Amino acid sequence: MAHVIDGNAIAEHLRHTIEEELKVLRLSEVRPGLATVLVGEDFAAQAYERHVRRLCEALEYRYVSEGLPADVQLADVAATIGKLNADPRITGILVLHPLPSHIPEAEINSAIDPLKDIEAVHPQNTGLLAQGRPRFLPSTPASCYYLLDSYVRSTGQDPATFYSGKTIVVVGRSNSVGKPAQWLGLQRDATVVACHSRTHAAGKLAEFTCLADILIVAAGVRALVTGDMVRDGVIAVDVGIHPVEDPATGKTRMVGDLDFESVAARAEAITPVPGGVGPITDVWLVGNALMAAAMAQRVEPRFGIFR
Ligand code: NAD
Repeated sequence: MAHVIDGNAIAEHLRHTIEEELKVLRLSEVRPGLATVLVGEDFAAQAYERHVRRLCEALEYRYVSEGLPADVQLADVAATIGKLNADPRITGILVLHPLPSHIPEAEINSAIDPLKDIEAVHPQNTGLLAQGRPRFLPSTPASCYYLLDSYVRSTGQDPATFYSGKTIVVVGRSNSVGKPAQWLGLQRDATVVACHSRTHAAGKLAEFTCLADILIVAAGVRALVTGDMVRDGVIAVDVGIHPVEDPATGKTRMVGDLDFESVAARAEAITPVPGGVGPITDVWLVGNALMAAAMAQRVEPRFGIFR
């Protein structure tokens, strides 16, 4: 049976690292401030906003939450972002997803000040990331590698060399998760294979997933990858989150894009859902807001983990 990577423990360690860094940076007048913009009332977005808020409050960040109705006009969303861009007390801005269909995501991404763009969605930051010289690392793909690095270290190996020449297969090519996860793999000298919905439609998904030394699945399809689609000894990272109702209890629980039992039976290590990638993402995000605050003050943080 695979080693189950404990994302909660890794998130706690990351949070502790941020707290320590915060203590030092406060001496240099670095004051992080994070703002979220929520358009509409999506349940998952509201839940994520609450997580970020609690974390910011616990770390004594300045925190601002902007809520806009689902029928808001693009100009009003842009004006809200503009106000946050101009506020020196806000160092990081997160626009929550999904956005209503009449609000073009690309325009919203471009409206965020690149120096406050803690999810690296502005084309300038996406470009820097694709070129291997990121300003910010987007929270979900960064969390995948932070979690992988922690596991690699726990086996006595060095994350700086571990990935070189290994095959990383990423299932999913979204701008927010799949593509950056591919780029971060290339930066680590891995051979990266990019799979997506058309790979699946062509009946070729298993052909590629079974090549993976490391498999990152971010497709948004419940139990998409099963044990017969992976090779023995794979390290499998599950990004998917799907609420399902347990017929026995009537309670909702979360499952991922991996068929956990059958993949775990063959894997060296696997991330669970819940308790894998998820808990790290909001901690990473607030870490990025601290980095942005340090950059605004032209202070170099001691830790390099957020680059
Ligand atoms: P998305 O819908 O934007 O992109 C999904 C990608 O998967 C697309 O590139 C698509 O081509 C590919 N895909 C879809 N069906 C496929 C199939 N059958 N076979 C192969 N590829 C397929 O989704 P996203 O924003 O990238 O998120 C992916 C999943 O990760 C979702 O379940 C989402 O809820 C979850 N998520 C989790 C976290 C977290 O913190 N754990 C954060 C962000 C997203």
